[in-house]
Amino acid sequence: MENPTPDPSETGRLSESLAAILPSLEAFNQFDGSDNAGRDRANWTALLDRSLPQSGAGLDEVLRELSEIVIPNGLRNGAPGFSGWVTTAPTTSAVAATLASTVAGSQRYWIQAFHHLEAVALRWLAELLCLPAEHAGVFVSGGSVANLIGLGAARQFVFEKAGIDPARDGLAGDRRWRIYASSEVHHVVTRAAGVLGLGRSNVCAVKTGTDLRIDVAALREQLLTDRNDGILPVAIVATAGTVNTGVIDPIEAMADLAAEFGVWLHVDGAYGLPGILDPRVVDLFRGVERADSVAVDPHKWLAVPVGCGATFVRNRGLIGRAFTMETAEYLEGSVSDGPVDSPFDDFGETYFHWSVEQSAPSRGVQVWAVLREIGADGMRARVVRDNSFARQLADHVQADNRLELLADPVLSICCFRYRRPGFDEERLATVNGAIMRQLRADGVCVPSATTVNGRYAIRPCFINPRTTARDVEELARRVRRHGDELSTAV
Ligand SMILES: *Cc1c(COP(=O)(O)O)cnc(C)c1O
Repeated sequence: MENPTPDPSETGRLSESLAAILPSLEAFNQFDGSDNAGRDRANWTALLDRSLPQSGAGLDEVLRELSEIVIPNGLRNGAPGFSGWVTTAPTTSAVAATLASTVAGSQRYWIQAFHHLEAVALRWLAELLCLPAEHAGVFVSGGSVANLIGLGAARQFVFEKAGIDPARDGLAGDRRWRIYASSEVHHVVTRAAGVLGLGRSNVCAVKTGTDLRIDVAALREQLLTDRNDGILPVAIVATAGTVNTGVIDPIEAMADLAAEFGVWLHVDGAYGLPGILDPRVVDLFRGVERADSVAVDPHKWLAVPVGCGATFVRNRGLIGRAFTMETAEYLEGSVSDGPVDSPFDDFGETYFHWSVEQSAPSRGVQVWAVLREIGADGMRARVVRDNSFARQLADHVQADNRLELLADPVLSICCFRYRRPGFDEERLATVNGAIMRQLRADGVCVPSATTVNGRYAIRPCFINPRTTARDVEELARRVRRHGDELSTAV
């Protein structure tokens, strides 16, 4: 078919083009054979690192290069044995929804179904995660921005009380302030403090107990001392599922302190909040409903495509004042106040006033698709299964005298290591580091690593919908086997 538009880029041939790359995508999703993207990097980067083409190669060539070079060298974080960091590849309905929104809902405003699904999905997500219905939500690009929005609302709240509009006038003067979080807090919270002009150094790292949860007595002590010193408390940050070990701060006790000191309570549940669906641990989340703001990441445990986080706040007006774009003639001026005769007569919910993005994809459709597909029951089954995987692995580790459990699993993370009599901490760290490198090179079972109370830990985090109990057993077997082989060499 001849291209009917004056622009050289193809705007039709959608089915044909998708069909052209589907075999390569299907093959990729089998995760067959070894993952050579790392070893072969020089080969495929050489094919891609071209200078700017002056004349285009055409759609068919793009599709060929996608199929033959790009997709086969993609990221296998969805492979069944992958359990690293807190990431996985999306499930099918979320992929289809994303494609649909890219084609048919490529902005999140105006009157259109994708925009409408933002609100539906936020409502479902709040209910799923036991957040109060009156909390207002907004989808953002991920946990980094979700935490930034929550802390931006906190900043607005506390400085407005002091007679300052920080969004409008900035943070002038000689005031001192602090954000309180445990030493296990995710670094995006610290970065958010930097971006918001609150300062990274004003994030006070409160010590944890050996259980790696914030020490509430130490937090109270710090709040008291700082109050006497005239330091303004901006927020208390509770982590519901730390990225290192998956522990949940004592949210209820922190909510009590927040109430006592009149401080904003922010909960970072980017990874762990869906854990609230597991009846075995639901009590650990008590108090989350009292938070002033909550960050969650559907692109983690809900396995929608990366680029989907969400913030919920008790007071929508605050995020509105913190993040408003102000009225702009070119935006508002083009929308009518009269009857709605066109989808472009009304922006719908003005999410661009509650976030740091104006143009943004419709992300709600992804969350809607997954929850419509498997329901709250399906999501609960996933979370329970993943938490059980961590416990299954912990049991296996404890039954093997060459393996050592470094922290009891709370959610779906299990921190453990290979051990050997007579090895000191340094040698253990060396052996386990070598085991990790071997696991990554094998590419079959790929966890990540961290340190737990100063000890090097192998750290699988089970959120991957493709993982089975066999993959969990295989990881333990491989750690043991590689450890036995490699410990003779260190
Ligand atoms: C992943 C994570 C973040 C950061 O989220 P991104 O989506 O990676 O930006 C923040 N906090 C916690 C607890 C996380 O697990």
